[in-house]
This record gives sequence, structure tokens and C-alpha cells, in this order.
Amino acid sequence: MNNKEIKLEIIKVAKKLYDRQMVNTNEGNVSIRNGDYVYITPSQVCKDELTEEMICVTDLEGNKLDGTLKPSSEIALHLHIYKLRPDVKGIVHSHAPHSTAFAIARKPIVSKAYTEMIYLYDKIPVVDYGAPSTPEIYKDVKTYIYQTDAFLLANHGLVTVGKTLKDAYLLTESVESIARTLLYTRLLGGEYPLTQPDLEFLYNARKSQLDKDPITP
Ligand SMILES: [Zn+2]
Repeated sequence: MNNKEIKLEIIKVAKKLYDRQMVNTNEGNVSIRNGDYVYITPSQVCKDELTEEMICVTDLEGNKLDGTLKPSSEIALHLHIYKLRPDVKGIVHSHAPHSTAFAIARKPIVSKAYTEMIYLYDKIPVVDYGAPSTPEIYKDVKTYIYQTDAFLLANHGLVTVGKTLKDAYLLTESVESIARTLLYTRLLGGEYPLTQPDLEFLYNARKSQLDKDPITP
């Protein structure tokens, strides 16, 4: 993708997050890594009102090279992930409400009953709390980032990563959908657990088809 295409992709994903109520007003941030450059949404702008000129371009140390506004206040979190995982080229941080409810309760999203969840993820972990917009926010990210493309920031929200920004966005949608379904299920009195053989079948299916092991707590 060229410079313009990258900026347009960020605007598209940011608008989707806003339209689907996974970020409100100025919340959340979205970025793409392109070589030694990072493109990221600016601080203090509604995701529905972004323009190409507003998208910030920085180097891997966060020095701004282009863009009319200040980069997102969570740029250090994005840069930290890009440094730890060179395979990651896109990051979405949202406050998707159902996922964020789990984050605020400091409960990982996990289920021994929801087939889609077991097949795809097994567990969306919670990284330790750190104050927003400070280096504290990512101090525990390294605990899980090598095992998972999605994690919750304690008392805060959801982060997903991918080989493209689209992959990271689709993961946000998927995790949020699972979080919503699990919350509804718990309103109905809780999950009906699958048997161990049924769980083993799903774990094996995941291993053979997705080549992913469950994330151990
Ligand atoms: Zn946030």
C-alpha cells in the first residue's frame, strides 16, 4: 500500500469502530506499520471525523514525521507491540463495551461451553493494569503477546493485532461478539459446559486446522 492507501485504510477501520459503537467520541486508536514507519490515528479527534491530513506518521521511536495533529496518546503501546512482534503490521485498540466489561472486571474471556470461542481462542487474557497514556500501560504486554493476537487491558479495553490492520479489526469484531454472547449467557444463569471429550475434539480441530494451541493461564 502507498502512503495514501495506508491513511485511507486507517480512516476506514476507525469509522467502522465508531459506527459499530466499539469506540465513543475520541476513544481508541488504530495503527499500521509500514517498514520503519508507523501510521496512527491522532489524539482528541472523533473517529468519525478523520481526514487523511490528520493521520500521523512517526518513526519507530514515535518522532512525528507527518500529520497536522498530535499522535494518539497510546502511541507508546503500539510502538512497544511493533518492537516485540515484527510480524504485526496492524493494531486496533478499542473500548468495545462487552470486551471492556470483562477488562474492568479483570476477568479473562474464557469458556468451556461456547464452541466458537473454544475453537478460535480458548482464552483472551487480561494484562496487568497500567495508567492510560503512560509506559505502565504496556509493562505486562510481553507476558501474552507472543501467545495471542488479542488481549484485554485491565480496567480499560481491548487490543488486537494482525498481519494487516484488517486482520486486527476482524479480530476485534470477533472477540467483541464472543464477549457479548458470553455475557448474555451468564444473564440466563450461566453456561452449560461441554464434556471433556467434546472439548478435546474442538482442541484437536483447532490444532489441525489453525495450528494453534490453547493459551495456558
Ligand atoms: Zn483506551
